[in-house]
Amino acid sequence: MTDVKSTDIQVSTFENAMRQFDRAAGLLKINPGLLNIIKRPRRSIILELPMMMDDGTYRLFKGYRVQHSIVRGPGKGGIRYHPDVNLDEVQALAAWMTFKCAVVGIPFGGAKGGIVCDPRKMSKGELERLTRRYTAELMDVIGPDQDVPAPDVNTDSQIMAWVMDTYSMHQRRTETAVVTGKPVAMGGSLGRREATGRGVQFCVRAMARHLGQSLPGLRIAVQGFGNVGSVAAELLARDGCKIVAVCDVYGAIANKSGLDIPALLKHTATTGSVKDFPGSESIDTKSILTTDCDVLIPAALENQITEENAALIRARVVAEGANGPTTPEADVILAEKGIYVIPDILCNAGGVTVSYFEWVQDRMGYFWEEEEVNQRLELIMNRSFGEVLALSTAHDTTLRVAAFMLAIQRVAEVIQLRGLYA
Ligand code: GLU
Repeated sequence: MTDVKSTDIQVSTFENAMRQFDRAAGLLKINPGLLNIIKRPRRSIILELPMMMDDGTYRLFKGYRVQHSIVRGPGKGGIRYHPDVNLDEVQALAAWMTFKCAVVGIPFGGAKGGIVCDPRKMSKGELERLTRRYTAELMDVIGPDQDVPAPDVNTDSQIMAWVMDTYSMHQRRTETAVVTGKPVAMGGSLGRREATGRGVQFCVRAMARHLGQSLPGLRIAVQGFGNVGSVAAELLARDGCKIVAVCDVYGAIANKSGLDIPALLKHTATTGSVKDFPGSESIDTKSILTTDCDVLIPAALENQITEENAALIRARVVAEGANGPTTPEADVILAEKGIYVIPDILCNAGGVTVSYFEWVQDRMGYFWEEEEVNQRLELIMNRSFGEVLALSTAHDTTLRVAAFMLAIQRVAEVIQLRGLYA
């Protein structure tokens, strides 16, 4: 990896993703040369984005877009704004998108983008200019049939609106289907904002059914209270689950009898954080993962559950709302402890599934009721959960290995059907 110094990252997230791949590939009878083609990112773009800041100073921001696979359809995946974004991470996230889209059977490949920046320290105007410059630089490689970005960590529907507008201005026509996760007023889908969290809810429900547990009273801890964690907490609390601990980048809170999630959402909307929520005790942010609970939902960043803390996890189920929260070493420890991990490429696939619905609606020019979106999402999540579970039972393996097996088979099948053009 050209621009990543080995000192920049202790673990290669892409290597971790490929170790997950290899474990599953080892159980499949697929030509090793073909497996190698499936693994490697097809195209990695590195950008230097020049900007004038509000105070008149010039700055350069580093941007990335990785198209891991376009075998099953256009590239698909979010854009992340974070100070720690790097090429290795974006390549891993793009690879996970390829396998995620394959697991849920939607006709996309996998891609991901990112800009190294701290959006908390930037004005709205600066964010808009940076987003527009990034989009303009990618004009030739994104598009409804090529690569369709979406929100990810620290990006939202407003940022997607700027991507859509910039792309459309260059194309001299309004092209809504170039991004998903847009505002509903301009071609977004109802239910998209909540979709990732709702998908997590469907997976937790399906897992509880499988384990013969009932949802009311189920104790849940959530790491991350952004778009995924907050919605998952809200929906599962409505199912009667007790959300016993949550955290965000500023702090962590707990309440053994269950936090009042609607009140917490109001608190975060006004204060910007879960910290100092009345009726909760403040706890150490790190201890969120080792909270005594039934279901742990990591919904923040990668590499959170590691060989250092995996043995201390007390949940029976880990539902991965984030991408890549569990390292391969930790996976082994969790499996030995008999903890079920609903893997990211299944558990958080609700977001990209409703992104697919949004893309379909944009291209039809006909928009669905929210109920229809949610019903179709439930159908896909339940079907995919069932397929992964059945494969894991048949091969006596983890849900992650089974999910990767399913995904690899689906990508390999299409490569073989299409053949290689030379
Ligand atoms: N960023 C989300 C993910 O990691 C959604 C991607 C999309 O909708 O394209 O799955």
